[in-house]
Amino acid sequence: MNGTKADIKSMDLEELKGEMEKAGEKSFRAKQLYEWMHQKLAGDFGQMTNIPKELREKCWENYSFTTLKPLRVQESKTDGTKKFLFELADGNTVESVWMKYKHGNSVCISSQVGCRMGCRFCASALEGLVRPLAPSEMLEQVYAITLLTGERVSNVVMMGMGEPLDNYDHTVKFIRLLTDENGLHISQRNVTVSTCGLVPQMKRLAQEGFQITLALSLHAATDEKRRKLMPIAEKYTLDELMDASGYYFEKTGRRITFEYSLIEGINDAGEDADALAKLVGGLNCHVNLIPVNPVKERDFTQSSPEKALAFKNKLEKYGINVTIRREMGRDIDGACGQLRRRELHR
Ligand code: SAH
Repeated sequence: MNGTKADIKSMDLEELKGEMEKAGEKSFRAKQLYEWMHQKLAGDFGQMTNIPKELREKCWENYSFTTLKPLRVQESKTDGTKKFLFELADGNTVESVWMKYKHGNSVCISSQVGCRMGCRFCASALEGLVRPLAPSEMLEQVYAITLLTGERVSNVVMMGMGEPLDNYDHTVKFIRLLTDENGLHISQRNVTVSTCGLVPQMKRLAQEGFQITLALSLHAATDEKRRKLMPIAEKYTLDELMDASGYYFEKTGRRITFEYSLIEGINDAGEDADALAKLVGGLNCHVNLIPVNPVKERDFTQSSPEKALAFKNKLEKYGINVTIRREMGRDIDGACGQLRRRELHR
């Protein structure tokens, strides 16, 4: 994102065709440019060898070409997880995480610099929203990691910094480009959008015709408790959230994932599991229990493994599909936003 120049990597093929037309170029140049950017992951216009030099020069002149600068990489010694801190063109930084699983490589990306949702347990909320990311800046996290690791990314989760549905248009554009057959062509079924629960946007997303997974960050099973953890709960009630979740499933046929961070003494008691089962029991869903990541500035403690297991067992007795998320990269500032915060304080 460079001053007034148009951000060429955020354009879809149709838009690029329009640009070529405007410039008096042949329309097939659009596809060539698109493939260089989104399939071959070219680092700049100079590498696009089948594009005439004259057109490449026009491109340098008229467009900004988004790239990210890796500032820091941390690799977990226990599970190979890698955490990247990237610098954007304006000097802001974002974090992305690369995780290796049996079923393929997964990248967790950020959708905004900072966040304005203010969840009490979250490191990204501490400084508020700095700015939303452009589609190209979300794509580049995946592209840069593909190039840096030399391995194909098969899964993308929007669970890094930011609230993706608070940056709705860019998020939707990003998903279209990421899953486009002329680009990396990542399967929509392998893309997850995680939201703290913006009801109108959840409903809108249900109508986009995507086959992606929607993950809803619940973390509490009563409105009263949720309001203590997540300011957004003042705006939307659990009833409204369940309604929107049901609608998402109805429209897309995609099972909802509910995320529930287990916090010692706050939401991890037997009665919390009962309430959660009652809340989500009627929906075709999956519950993902996440032992809360302690954040230095927050005083929340992780539930013990025994408590987490008891919570899981209780949900299973109700017939609910539930897993405890394996913690990846705990030795490298596991929780979102923490690597960046350390860097900011340096
Ligand atoms: N804004 C989106 C996505 C980013 S956060 C959302 O709220 O879903 C991705 C997930 O990590 C969310 O479920 C969020 O609640 C959770 N999370 C944030 N901080 C955490 C922490 N310290 N420990 C455990 N989970 C955390």
